[in-house]
Amino acid sequence: MAMEILSPHITEAEWEVMRVVWANGQVTSKEVISILEDKMNWKAPTIKTLLGRLVEKGALDTERDGKRFIYTAAMEEDDTVRDYTSDIFSRICNKDVGHVIGGMVKAHELSFDDIRYLEEILEKKKATAVEEVSCRCVPGQCQCNVNHHGRIRRENNDGE
Ligand SMILES: [Zn+2]
Repeated sequence: MAMEILSPHITEAEWEVMRVVWANGQVTSKEVISILEDKMNWKAPTIKTLLGRLVEKGALDTERDGKRFIYTAAMEEDDTVRDYTSDIFSRICNKDVGHVIGGMVKAHELSFDDIRYLEEILEKKKATAVEEVSCRCVPGQCQCNVNHHGRIRRENNDGE
């Protein structure tokens, strides 16, 4: 299977820092500290460590400007978010994708505009919809395969 090249893995803490950089275009460590100190209850050294790690991972670029460093994002926010969502969907059976998307829709507050946008997408999706989504999982890694091959199910039925 061809793997998409994913952006470097970014932890939840690092993601908080990336959001500040994405929102501001370019930042100094001082600016990131003033924005995140209170929300995250982090001390300045923690934030500096996170910035350093993000530079090492290639997620941030840095440039010296006199005494201070200016940080800019080396990866686009849209691309990064897309990589992370496709990463989630690569971890589940294709047959469950619709259900998981439905759960995401249910769980989040949406505007009328958001809903109109989703309705448009769904309407267009009907043109390429299939009768049944095909499972491409390794046998034994999802419920449909377990049922097909009967193996794990049989073990359960035999009982311990
Ligand atoms: Zn499957």
